[in-house]
Amino acid sequence: MSYKAITKHGHPNARANGTILEHVFLMSEMLGRALTDLEVVHHRDEDKRNNHPSNLQLFATQAEHVSYHSTKRAKEKALLESGNAEFLKCPFCKEYDDPPNMAVRKTGRAGYHRKCNALWSNTRNETKRQESKFNEPT
Ligand SMILES: [Zn+2]
Ligand SMILES: [Zn+2]
Repeated sequence: MSYKAITKHGHPNARANGTILEHVFLMSEMLGRALTDLEVVHHRDEDKRNNHPSNLQLFATQAEHVSYHSTKRAKEKALLESGNAEFLKCPFCKEYDDPPNMAVRKTGRAGYHRKCNALWSNTRNETKRQESKFNEPT
């Protein structure tokens, strides 16, 4: 599977030989301007050959595009594993839960139970205490 290319000599987004990716051309037609070097055209149904205008979505940067995909993947995984796309997985107890019950990171796509985190840091401190006892001079 690869992208469809067409020939549009003189288009600002065309290569030197006049070829341009069809979805780039269609997006620039919809916008009424050329795309910048940073902008990325995304296929909503992830079918690279489906260049129907309703299937195309513009992202300002590749970074935004990539984060859109990873969020989407995470939601699909959450839906599959917990039955709810919005649920987050606690890295401590490995259980999915509703974000309001959790401490959620700034990205909104990672969270943990405060209770699990507290338990975990207690275990760590316990280990440290035992180590220091062990190292005490006799
Ligand atoms: Zn995409
Ligand atoms: Zn937990």
